[in-house]
Amino acid sequence: MPAGFAWPPGIRAAACFTFDVDAESPILFEHPEAAGWLDVMSHQAYGPRTGIPRILRLLDRQGIRATFFVPGYSTERWPEAIRSIRDAGHEIAHHGYLHEGARSAPDAETEERRLLRGLEALDTVAGVRPVGYRAPMWELSYRLPALLAKHGFRYDSGLMDADHPYRLAVSAEPGAASIVELPAHWAQDDWEPYVYLPGLSGSGVIASPAEVIARWTLELEALVEEGGLFMLTNHPFVSGHASRAAGLERLIQRAREIPGLWIASATEIAAHVETLPLVPVVHLPLVVPETL
Ligand SMILES: [Zn+2]
Repeated sequence: MPAGFAWPPGIRAAACFTFDVDAESPILFEHPEAAGWLDVMSHQAYGPRTGIPRILRLLDRQGIRATFFVPGYSTERWPEAIRSIRDAGHEIAHHGYLHEGARSAPDAETEERRLLRGLEALDTVAGVRPVGYRAPMWELSYRLPALLAKHGFRYDSGLMDADHPYRLAVSAEPGAASIVELPAHWAQDDWEPYVYLPGLSGSGVIASPAEVIARWTLELEALVEEGGLFMLTNHPFVSGHASRAAGLERLIQRAREIPGLWIASATEIAAHVETLPLVPVVHLPLVVPETL
């Protein structure tokens, strides 16, 4: 275990099942021309229309609480779906407004405006004030943690440098504010193995759920041995499909059978980490050395 880190008594590792309700948002941001393409929009709408109800049913059967990261635009376009997530008792967290990758933001003001627009949408539509954030496209700028702390967020989920949660300082200043980081990884994300949108995303090679679930099960079991956090990221438009959802349910069932594995929402895990005597990690932009 990292210095100062411990799970609650009787717990040896944790698993967090999360769903990014991207729906149309990332396509509209990256490819605005696709707004007029019914086939592509229907592919994305599968999430709120069909995937979310199926996922809520399976989470209810398994009796676990999940975290849903929701872009503001998805909230405004699919209010009933978002309210159904809230009403089922799951956590709703922030995932940008139109799923804007941070690399497209010219300055901190733009990033802050996007953050506030997402907050406003979640508040207006669902009366939710999220405390968690996941960067769209996993793109987190060095300046965003300070903005998250400024606006009362308690955790971020998406950096890829650890197996355990940690405290993330927002600057190198002594006594600087910090939030909790709940690390994730591309390998535990369903988009890469499953998505194919001709010309927009994916290679056309669509993995079998049997293969994907086997891979995630290996990671879950190995991280339990390491005492780490298994952070899984699914999308309702992707893993809401029948055989993928069935595979996911088997994975959750497997997780529930592991003694000492804590299955919790991201907020529940972050709240525990806040109680630990961890030295905050400072991330600073690197300086590229002069090439010879
Ligand atoms: Zn996303």
